[in-house]
Amino acid sequence: MTAPARARGSQELIRAEEPVLAHNYHPLPVVVARAEGAWVEDVEGRRYLDMLAGYSALNFGHRHPALVDAAHRQLDRLTLTSRAFHHDRLAGFAERLAALTGTDMVLPMNTGAEAVESGIKVARKWAYDVKGVPADRATIVVAADNFHGRTTTIVGFSTDETARAGFGPFTPGFRVVPYNDLGALEEAVDETTAAVLIEPIQGEAGVLIPDDGYLAGVRELTRRAGCLFVADEIQSGLGRTGHTLAVEHESVVPDVVLLGKALGGGIVPVSAVVGSREVLGVLRPGEHGSTFGGNPLAAAVGTAVVELLETGEFQRRAAELGAVLREGLAALVGRGVVGFRARGLWAGVDVDPALGSGREISERLMREGVLVKDTHGSTIRLAPPLTVTGEELRGALGTLEKVLTS
Ligand SMILES: *Cc1c(COP(=O)(O)O)cnc(C)c1O
Repeated sequence: MTAPARARGSQELIRAEEPVLAHNYHPLPVVVARAEGAWVEDVEGRRYLDMLAGYSALNFGHRHPALVDAAHRQLDRLTLTSRAFHHDRLAGFAERLAALTGTDMVLPMNTGAEAVESGIKVARKWAYDVKGVPADRATIVVAADNFHGRTTTIVGFSTDETARAGFGPFTPGFRVVPYNDLGALEEAVDETTAAVLIEPIQGEAGVLIPDDGYLAGVRELTRRAGCLFVADEIQSGLGRTGHTLAVEHESVVPDVVLLGKALGGGIVPVSAVVGSREVLGVLRPGEHGSTFGGNPLAAAVGTAVVELLETGEFQRRAAELGAVLREGLAALVGRGVVGFRARGLWAGVDVDPALGSGREISERLMREGVLVKDTHGSTIRLAPPLTVTGEELRGALGTLEKVLTS
């Protein structure tokens, strides 16, 4: 008889990854073993408040009971059919997601990058079939400092050299303009333009919030130019900013919205392209697809996510606790914080570079029991689950104050 394998500790597990795991990430040195709500616990039983929430994939916290319950019930019944057949969960998911987002049609996919790729394909098809752009001439205008995912096409129109270099040749047909600059956008759009693709708030760039009027301006400009407005709400959407969609802040309705991350409830990857019938209606059988897109488990969890958002409770919490977050950060300006941008429960915080890099600040916060992630340079991003309590949030802000001022 062999003795049961001894459980390995954090340091041992981190060392064990090194030779066998591709080095495309540089995680904080914490090894999470279990989680509930806004809290995670490492292998040694230390607890941390999760102020990253899976880049907003965990908007409802870890293992939200309604979502776990929906997943369990579906696991016991039906998990996958492929789209070769109908299944009994897809109609309800699509109807409710369309209603929640105020659109007509839903194209279910899995990851965010797939939703972006699907949005690009749909916009191009619309440009040829409806707008009448000559074959293979369609262009899509995107913003500098964008983050839309990691496929070869998507990194091809990134302006982040780390994401791009070494992965060419890239897909043609994209024009990059500065973000938050309607004049530059106006100049880039012409008769070949299928769509303008932007994030309503640039998350990876450091939670960059455009000036008031920018999103409405993009809507007006694209309507006038006869091209589509495609909003990537994969990180900004589904409650994070205090609205179901971040574009609602300016009462803007894009032609196409890309969703992902929180749509899977932190359980399974679920993404979707939602939009008008005029646009999503261009796809015919065989022209696009995904083996796993819209599978029964994903649809069951996605439906439960939509049900949570239908109550408006999470949007309200994000707005209310967002005020606590802004107040706490404002009190730290000049005391380790150089500046910050926040909307709802989402903030990019520029830390005084003299105090350390974003990475170093993140490591210090980790040692104090708060998990965050740096973006660029000395900027850290705060995006706790929308289920976090005011007390927990104030606690995390207190820890940030301690790390920055001690
Ligand atoms: C995370 C993200 C994506 C990519 O999603 P994946 O699921 O990682 O492929 C695309 N756009 C935005 C705005 C994102 O934040």
